Amino acid sequence: MAESKTADVMDKIVSLCKRRGFIFQSSEIYGGINGFWDYGPLGVELRKNIRDCWWNDMVRRRDDVVGLESSIIMHPKVWEASGHVGGFTDPMVDCKVSKQRFRADQIFFAAVVVDGKTAGYVTVLESERIAEELQEKAETFKRKKAIQGKLEPVRPLDFTEATPEEIPQIPSPATGEPGSLTPPRAFNMMFETYVGALRDESAIAYLRPETAQGMFVDFKAVLDTGRVKVPFGIAQIGKSFRNEITPRNFIFRSREFEQMEMEYFISDDDDWARWHRYWIDWCRDWLVSVGIPASALSEYNHPKEKLAFYSKGTTDLMFSYPFGVQELWGIAARGDYDLTQHGKASGQPMEYFDDVKKKRYVPHVIEPAVGVDRILLAILCSAYCEDQAPDEKGKMETRIVMKFHPRIAPVKVAVFPLLKNKPELVKKAQEVRDLLRPYMTVFYDEAGAIGRRYRRQDEAGTPFCLTIDFDTLGEKGPELADTVTLRERDTMKQERVKISELLPKLLEKVR
Ligand code: ATP
Repeated sequence: MAESKTADVMDKIVSLCKRRGFIFQSSEIYGGINGFWDYGPLGVELRKNIRDCWWNDMVRRRDDVVGLESSIIMHPKVWEASGHVGGFTDPMVDCKVSKQRFRADQIFFAAVVVDGKTAGYVTVLESERIAEELQEKAETFKRKKAIQGKLEPVRPLDFTEATPEEIPQIPSPATGEPGSLTPPRAFNMMFETYVGALRDESAIAYLRPETAQGMFVDFKAVLDTGRVKVPFGIAQIGKSFRNEITPRNFIFRSREFEQMEMEYFISDDDDWARWHRYWIDWCRDWLVSVGIPASALSEYNHPKEKLAFYSKGTTDLMFSYPFGVQELWGIAARGDYDLTQHGKASGQPMEYFDDVKKKRYVPHVIEPAVGVDRILLAILCSAYCEDQAPDEKGKMETRIVMKFHPRIAPVKVAVFPLLKNKPELVKKAQEVRDLLRPYMTVFYDEAGAIGRRYRRQDEAGTPFCLTIDFDTLGEKGPELADTVTLRERDTMKQERVKISELLPKLLEKVR
């Protein structure tokens, strides 16, 4: 990541996103709505580029993956069979005094043990420094209560591990006082709605909490198109909805978000671990190809004892966000669980006939599942950079620059006439804009000093700027006629390029 990352970098990114039109709070004029976000003019382009890159690499450039777009609202039985109605829950805790809600697995507590005896409890919310913060709080607790003796090192636990005797003694993260936290209870995160005119039990349906079930439910339909043979994948991009208890960290955890998921079906006797590894590596390489540095990525293998009974293994690709190392992309080996469940519940076996091995079986699946918004945030964090650059008068100033990979940058090239009141310059600049526009996103700007126009594009992450000046018109001699200044965002280096050579030169860089 760029070197200027500091603790407040998240605030700077949020403020830049608003200022430059990447991301706004949803319904802001009414005070906003927690967990929902709007993407502004630059944000939609960035999002679209992420989606398009993934779709091209995952579907169009492969022979073994096909696409799907299933409906957001599906038959409610889908979610019963998949286990979401019964089990798609997070443990929720209420603070009866402050009326705040928490996810139990995000509250951490520890006993304050002095000379082998528990003197009380301390609490913190999930952070990068849970153990250190609990230790500091335990020391303060001991000092304030003037307890004599030796404080033992704290042993952090999350609230789901608290015993019924401990719960009343654990301080609420909201008030700092014990006695107000309820025991955790399961909260189903699916959004409910009603289909049709009746508002009774029989009309209840759900907004999908993941896109994956569409691929399982349509497995047979895709198979019957005859284009696919195991091993093959079905990929989908689309909105998902989860009524998260604590949406937070900007767009990292939202209630409405977009997923890009792919179900890769393999034979029941194939080496699942090899395919699992293959897709972990594919996902990592893809992230690097859109500008996320490999050094900011790591892998987390879910411990065997925490996996669902059907799961063979899950590895998360983690990204080092400014608020901590967090899950970006989950790659799960789910066995034949989902297809078997839908086969049983629908009465239509989800089987595949292998005409080489002459046998029928339920395929196993490897599932790489990622959120567009989490990738977008990782890209924003990776791209954000502050450096020093000369202003109009040559004095050094801090420059904010979004170093997006040209493949992903919302605007690929900005075109400026040096002066807006010189019709010849404006005409030429508009010709250059029109030449490039069919092939890439071009931003035309004639307002303000040229240095300020460059700065605006640096903040938008535009990799190239073109300036049309009097040399372009041939005023300094024929050798510079019909050339423009091409300025590169990261190095700020400028070169003269012939207009006739612009298109191939830029296309090579942005594709
Ligand atoms: P988490 O543990 O962070 O809640 P998860 O393990 O429940 O995530 P999955 O169900 O595996 O997530 O979803 C696949 C991917 O979808 C995640 O890796 C993440 O990129 C994205 N995702 C999941 N929940 C959200 C959310 N609330 N907001 C934004 N993206 C999300």
